[in-house]
This record gives sequence, C-alpha cells and structure tokens, in this order.
Amino acid sequence: MTSWRETVKQAETLEDLKQRLEEESGDVFPDSLQLAYDKLLFMVKEARERRVVVVSDREGTDQFEGEVSNVGVFMVKQVALNGKNAKVLRSLLTWTAPQALGTSGISMGLGDRLGLASPGHLKAIRDTPVRPVLAQQSMRELELTNRTYVDVLDAATWAVFQEGYQGGYGADGDHLKKIEDILMALELGFSMITLDCSEHINDEILDLTEAEVLSQYNQLPKAKRKEFEELYCDQRYELQNGATIYMDPEHYQRMALTYHQALDFMEKVYEQVITKLDRPIDFEISIDEVATPTTPQDHFFVANELKKRGIKVCSVAPRFYGHFEKGIDYMGDLEQFEQEFAVHADISSHFGYKLSIHSGSDKFSVFPIIGKYARATGYHVKTAGTNWLEAVRVIAHVDPCLYRALHQKALDSLKAARKYYHVSMDLAKVPEIDTLEDQELPGLLDQDDARQLLHITYGFMLQDPKLKEGIYEVLKKHEGRYEQFLVCHMNRHLKALGIKQ
Ligand SMILES: [Zn+2]
Repeated sequence: MTSWRETVKQAETLEDLKQRLEEESGDVFPDSLQLAYDKLLFMVKEARERRVVVVSDREGTDQFEGEVSNVGVFMVKQVALNGKNAKVLRSLLTWTAPQALGTSGISMGLGDRLGLASPGHLKAIRDTPVRPVLAQQSMRELELTNRTYVDVLDAATWAVFQEGYQGGYGADGDHLKKIEDILMALELGFSMITLDCSEHINDEILDLTEAEVLSQYNQLPKAKRKEFEELYCDQRYELQNGATIYMDPEHYQRMALTYHQALDFMEKVYEQVITKLDRPIDFEISIDEVATPTTPQDHFFVANELKKRGIKVCSVAPRFYGHFEKGIDYMGDLEQFEQEFAVHADISSHFGYKLSIHSGSDKFSVFPIIGKYARATGYHVKTAGTNWLEAVRVIAHVDPCLYRALHQKALDSLKAARKYYHVSMDLAKVPEIDTLEDQELPGLLDQDDARQLLHITYGFMLQDPKLKEGIYEVLKKHEGRYEQFLVCHMNRHLKALGIKQ
C-alpha cells in the first residue's frame, strides 16, 4: 500500500495528485478528495487516527491550523479534526455545514450518539432520495453521552467530508424545551429545531370526568372559548384531497384544554426566536412525548391553529396510535394505526408540511404504511438508538469480554435509566449472560427485552471511563464492521419504507 506521502512526492500538479490518489488510495478516503480554492483536500487515516491533508502549489492562506511541510513540489498542511478546523471546513465547503431541508421530500434523523456512525449512515442513504439529518441529539442525550452540540456537529461535518456527500444534511436540536437551548443550537449553526411541547400539553385532561372537564373549560377566558368554539366545535373541514375532518363536539373541550397552552408556547418561541433568524430553518413541532395520543382531530386543531397564528413549520410529530417504544417494533393494532395514519398524512399534506415519526428505529411493521401514505407529501423518520445497538452488536461479536461488562453495567443501571426512558421490557425475559456461550451473545441484540435493556442504559455505560474507552477502542478498530452493520440495518428500514428494493 502506497502511503499518501509517497504519492504526493511523485505528483507534479494538484490534478495529477488527485488522479493518482483516486487510483491508488491507500490510506486516503477516496470520496473525500476535493479540489477547491487551488488546493487539494482529503482525509487520511493513519494508525487509526483521521486527519485532513491540505495540499497546495504554493503557500496558502487558508485558516486551518496545522503543521506545514514541503513534500515534493507541494506545501502540505496536516489538519487535526478539532472544532476550530471543522468550522473552517464548513465555511470553505458549504455542503459540510448543515442546511434546512424544507417542508417536503423524505428525510431521516440518523442520530449518532458516539460520533462514529455517520459515514455508515451516508453510505446507506446514498443513491436514495432520503435527505439525512446526521446531527440529532436532545438535551437528555447530550447529558447522557457527555457531549456538546459542537461535538455532535463537528462529527457530522467530518463525516460528510470523508464521504464526499454534497447532497446537504441537517442538524437537529432535538426535543428542545427551552428558548436558551434553542438559541444555543441556532448560534452553532443547527439547521433544525424540534420544539418539544410536552411540558405545555396537559396530560391530566385525559383522565378527567366530563364534569371536571367542563369546570376547567369554563375557566378559560371567554373570548378564547368563543374563538375556539366557532372553529372547532361541531365543524367540518374538507381537506385538499377531499377527505373530511369532523370536529366532534364531544371531544372538543378536552382537546382545547389539552393543547391550548402548548399552542401559546409554540407561538411564543416562533415569535421570539424563529422569525428573528436571517436564514431558513426547519422548525418542527413535537407533541409526541406525552401520554395523550394525538387523534386526527387533535392534529387538525394544532395544524389549523399554527396556520392561523402564522407559524410556518417543516414538520409536526404527533403521538400516533399504539406504542413507539425504543429499539423495538411497533406495538398496537395495525389496522387502527393505518386508518389514523392515513388521516394524519392527509392533514400534513393539506397544511404543507412533513409528517414526523419519532422513535422511528425498528418500526418495521408500520414502515410500509408510512411509506404508502406519506410518500407523496413527505415525511421525516427519526432514528438514533438503533444505531447505538448496532455498535453494541459489533462489540458482542468481536469482544465478548467487553460485551459482558457492558451488559452487567446495563443491569446495574436499569432502574436509574428507566427514569429517562419509558420501556415495557421484562427483565425476566433477558437471558442470564452467565449461561450463554460467547458466540451466543450477538443473539441478545435480536431479543426485544435485551435490546431495550441495552438501549436505554447507554448513558451509564458511557459515563464509566473504562467502558467508554473500551467501546471507542473496539469500534475504531472494527470500523469497517460497524459500517457494514449500520448499512445492513438501515437498509432494512429503507426497504420496509419502500425506498430501496
Ligand atoms: Zn419525540
């Protein structure tokens, strides 16, 4: 294998060098080769460490920080993958910076908790119409992984450069609840904000008696009641495709009480933050992380209020019928899901935004329904944890000893992890690992209860310095395998959605 240095020595011009490196890439990521601003940039990997090499004919004036040397007829700068250099790269090659993806088409949230998965994700969606949202973390995930938004964004930047992916990617400040957090994500250049409205949705209404509902409803300001009643009590709306939404008076008061504060919150954030921006942004409304399922009627109410208040959104994430638990397939009545999903898709199409499906990892039984009804309008499917589970799968295959330590950590921290994530897993169904042979360990990643156990405890594993070091060491060593597993697993998603053959 010729090293990139040898090739640089032999080349005469930058074009010549590019061609030589394409043919005999050795330690260079061939898709990363970019001729821009009289320079040749590419990513190399030496002794498991990546860096970017910037080659120029003469002393350049680029802003990258790094060691400069003469190699052959060229000036060579070796650029470390740090935050400052990522920023320079984003301003130099604009496609390495996140961008808004808009209100139509198919996009996927491909959360990458370790900062190692994006190259595999990009390989999976290459040659499909899917636009990737590579940087996607919530405050909860940042806290549990001990990462910052800068880390998350930088990892995505380097990954698109490595893969030469110029199709445009998004960066999602996921499930943000506070204006200060939103401002922070936007300041860093995030292109999408998912506004989590759960703290303003009144879940208690779900269990109130009719009399209690009426008494609470009567406490709403009279003008508000009048305005809502005229629009949403016993009204019929025809959607663009001819379907009808009937705003049932029996459900009306509960609906108004459940969502009215959340709507005011959406308006406040939109007015105070989103309208002040001088660049396009994907603004997603999430009403999913609550106990109250979003009926089609609720969805219409929220959508119509957004329109009435002049709030432009790229997507809305309802809480669909049934259960979307972490890391496992959909649980619930498929027929009912299909019936309601079709109406949700009609509503988002009518109002001109994408339907967003959260906890979209591994929902294989509903993917064909999502693909069928939402394809024309566009949709966004968020995944994250399943990509982490593929990392654990690699470890189970190549380092049984580390896997056993992780599994034990998961068992020890399950109780605490359940405060962060609601899952229905039954610990009694997770096989005792002491009874399993090493070659049986990967099988645990195909067992629902074990999947959920390993899924929700990632933060506790990563907060243990020794385990964290082990995880990164194994995954860096077996990078090719991780990529292969990710592509294979994402392909299952893409096939079920009807995107890939
Ligand atoms: Zn969500």
